Amino acid sequence: MIIVLKKDITQETIDHVVEKIKTAGLAVHISKGKERTIIGAIGDESLLASKALEALPGVESVMPIMKPYKLVSREFQKESSVIDVGGVKIGDTDLQVIAGPCSVESRDSLVECARQVKAAGARILRGGAFKPRTSPYDFQGLGTDGLKLLAEAKKETGLPIISELMDPRDTELMCEYVDIIQIGARNMQNFRLLMEVGKAGKPVLLKRGLSATLKEFLMSAEYIASQGNSQIILCERGIRTFETATRNTLDLSAVPVLKEETHLPIFIDPSHSAGRWNLVAPLAKAAIAVGADGLMIEVHTDPENALCDGAQSLKPTKFARLMDEMKKVATAVGRNL
Ligand code: PEP
Ligand code: MN
Repeated sequence: MIIVLKKDITQETIDHVVEKIKTAGLAVHISKGKERTIIGAIGDESLLASKALEALPGVESVMPIMKPYKLVSREFQKESSVIDVGGVKIGDTDLQVIAGPCSVESRDSLVECARQVKAAGARILRGGAFKPRTSPYDFQGLGTDGLKLLAEAKKETGLPIISELMDPRDTELMCEYVDIIQIGARNMQNFRLLMEVGKAGKPVLLKRGLSATLKEFLMSAEYIASQGNSQIILCERGIRTFETATRNTLDLSAVPVLKEETHLPIFIDPSHSAGRWNLVAPLAKAAIAVGADGLMIEVHTDPENALCDGAQSLKPTKFARLMDEMKKVATAVGRNL
């Protein structure tokens, strides 16, 4: 950690800062320039976390050198993590596509959708049973019945399933049914929920919060990892910006930045980013080009009558066409789809 001191301060003030650092158990390296003094604190920076160095008299700024996230960082683990979900390897050379409706609505529509996305090459089925809706008057999902229908679709197609967990009290129930637990954008910083899924030991797909920085995103992943579960897939799903033409702004640069920072696989959800089905294909192809390990795409057999997010859902035929187009992009960047 580097501590820059203010101009023209007394030796007594400098000594006070040095004393604080030393009592925390770190060594000190003092560099006295013409104008100001800089202190290098050498050792475990986390020991200084509670010392509020910024607030000490004479301190101008404090710059940590270590990353605040550890277990999920590339510094901690150089090789990219590969997560095995019922034989589907996530984070390997093969790209994986998660597809399905925004929410589970009925047995027939779900199984039909599952069959069609499977035929097109998707390897994991999505479907919300507990929906995080902005309005309490909108369709909230089928709850446990929705999970049961997902289990039936899995039985019919063999596709592993993913669904969103919103309440820590449903963790056990969710674990009974799903292969991947989804933590939605709105709960990215629900720290108790994160710790709960950390303990559950199931693969987790963590979505980026609507206004979360990448550092905050990684700290949320660290919460899960801190409980002993490092099977985490990060999913960029668009962030809130001043732009209103799209539902959210897809932050494509998140992929290469996160690839540098973490060993965890990175997915892109072009559906919630765009909010409109006709933007899903270009964004999905771009996601592969920038190095995403996979995609989550909303597909509905009858988008016009969908109970949730119909406007951004692809019909199965369009999804199949997109899969073919994505294969070409994947090949161009040395991945398989
Ligand atoms: C979803 O994938 O169903 C969903 C609600 O997404 P997000 O949390 O990204 O809004
Ligand atoms: Mn949705």
